[in-house]
Amino acid sequence: MNDIRIGFGVDVHQLVADRKLIIGGVDIPSDLGALGHSDADVLLHAICDAMLGALNLRDIGFHFPDTDPKYKGIDSSILLRDTFALIQSKGYRLGNMDCTIIAEKPKLNPHIPEMQKRIAELVNSEEERISIKATTHEKVDSFGERRAIKAYATCLLFK
Ligand code: ZN
Repeated sequence: MNDIRIGFGVDVHQLVADRKLIIGGVDIPSDLGALGHSDADVLLHAICDAMLGALNLRDIGFHFPDTDPKYKGIDSSILLRDTFALIQSKGYRLGNMDCTIIAEKPKLNPHIPEMQKRIAELVNSEEERISIKATTHEKVDSFGERRAIKAYATCLLFK
């Protein structure tokens, strides 16, 4: 059973004016963007945590601390690529991942194929293995009021 591992990740970022909204490595036109030390890509961060969690390797903040100036404004694609390099160094590859993004606006569905393509490249996999879903929060709470966005990710790794 050590050959098949499951992992889960979740991430939240505050939405503010004058920031870009980058989700799944894709720059999405939006009046509000995500606040964070890095480029604040909520989906890539959740995926990093799911992959690290699958192999019990702590979390993204442990590997890429937000107190380190080296990571200020960093493209989170680099964080996912580095995370996956660690996963590969342990002899694992991706079985599949399933993710959900919670964002009231803008509509994310048109951008999902591009996110899948981008993520597949970063984790050396096929788009068919990268499931991304998007939903709103029905105008309720901080997510529904566009004060924040959230992403969940699960992933299966195998040797
Ligand atoms: Zn994050």
